[in-house]
Amino acid sequence: MNTVLRKLLFVDLIKGLKVTFRNQDPKELITEQYPLQRPEVAERFRGAPRLNNNPETNETLCISCDLCALACPEHLIVVNSERNPHTRRKELTDFTYDLSRCMFCGLCEDACPTDALELTQDFEMANYSREGLVWNRETLEKGPEPNVYRR
Ligand code: SF4
Ligand code: SF4
Repeated sequence: MNTVLRKLLFVDLIKGLKVTFRNQDPKELITEQYPLQRPEVAERFRGAPRLNNNPETNETLCISCDLCALACPEHLIVVNSERNPHTRRKELTDFTYDLSRCMFCGLCEDACPTDALELTQDFEMANYSREGLVWNRETLEKGPEPNVYRR
């Protein structure tokens, strides 16, 4: 078909509209309905950090070795501890993690010898202030609490 005839008969326009209407079928919609439906993230996704406790004793798994802080290229982890005079062991007093500087490389969790520090699959970490992105021990131990959206 020559170009003039194609233009007169709106062939290209009709072809384009066919593609558009073919994809209007609700079954074909691929837009994620977040936050109504939370997307599945990849198995190896690294998100919000959590400081794990022993499920049996509910005591922290962290032995205050400082390896995570030393492994972090951003130096954003601060581990505070005190030595127990009776057991001679270091005991965790506070732990801070500055999310605003984290690049979620996972070096800290790889360095942890007790699996105390874990980067979870939660991705909702937005905050209204920089200070709110500095998580302390309590927040880290509580772990992420994903928002459940309701209409
Ligand atoms: S994920 Fe990487 S940047 Fe973030 S705290 Fe761990 S080592 Fe540091
Ligand atoms: S590496 Fe693990 S055990 Fe050591 S201070 Fe960090 S979180 Fe605690």
